[in-house]
Amino acid sequence: MIVKEIRSKTILSTSKVHDHVINPYVGCQHACSYCYARFMKRFTGHKEPWGRFVDVKINAADLLRVEIGKKKRASVWVSGVCDPYQPLEAKYKITRACLEILAHHDWPVIIQTRSPLVLRDMDILKRAKNFEVGLTIPTADDAIRKLFEPNAPPIMDRLRTLDELHRSGIKTYAMIAPVLPGAEGLTQALVGKVDHVIVDRMNYNHADWVYTKYGLEDKRSDDFFHGVSREIATVCEQSGIECRLIF
Ligand code: SF4
Repeated sequence: MIVKEIRSKTILSTSKVHDHVINPYVGCQHACSYCYARFMKRFTGHKEPWGRFVDVKINAADLLRVEIGKKKRASVWVSGVCDPYQPLEAKYKITRACLEILAHHDWPVIIQTRSPLVLRDMDILKRAKNFEVGLTIPTADDAIRKLFEPNAPPIMDRLRTLDELHRSGIKTYAMIAPVLPGAEGLTQALVGKVDHVIVDRMNYNHADWVYTKYGLEDKRSDDFFHGVSREIATVCEQSGIECRLIF
């Protein structure tokens, strides 16, 4: 893993998903096989494989303090093309520093991660009035998780994280994306832990080799995907959980 400390030029970028996005890191240690964010390499010039490099934006909080004063209050997604709580965040606390500033200015924030490290920042999350936290959970089956995203935290840890956040009064959601084999049955495990669920099919192309290597091709058909999505939507409806299918 090649880790570089860099000084970024900006930190609060416009986004198509929410009003703004903050990416405290370039690159992601989780290195998920299907990750769409690897397109970033085209812009950053990294030659290493995705997941083998991380640039740490050590001036992110300094930039945010200045940029937030120049913009109108709007929603911020943390993050779009990296996990803001990848392992390096335990050392660098870049995400934490940015969240402190966003909470101080009372901006709405949507955190999206796969990591229980988000619980470290419970003090900020409890204090902030407009934060919500999403855990990405693409399958209920940890054996499948190990095939597609071996460097990301186990599924049980993510469910426990959602549970702890939700019980602490923090708004939570689960992002079921991409819908991997074993996503069936996931919704039942989410009941009582989330305020809403988002399901996105996303693009599987980068993970083609995983489906082929493990004989899972039938788990990426339209039939599979629509069947699982219907099941998720039905359980959500029965449990009073808002469910959004964004595909
Ligand atoms: S956690 Fe997100 S950004 Fe990181 S490798 Fe996985 S999909 Fe990509």
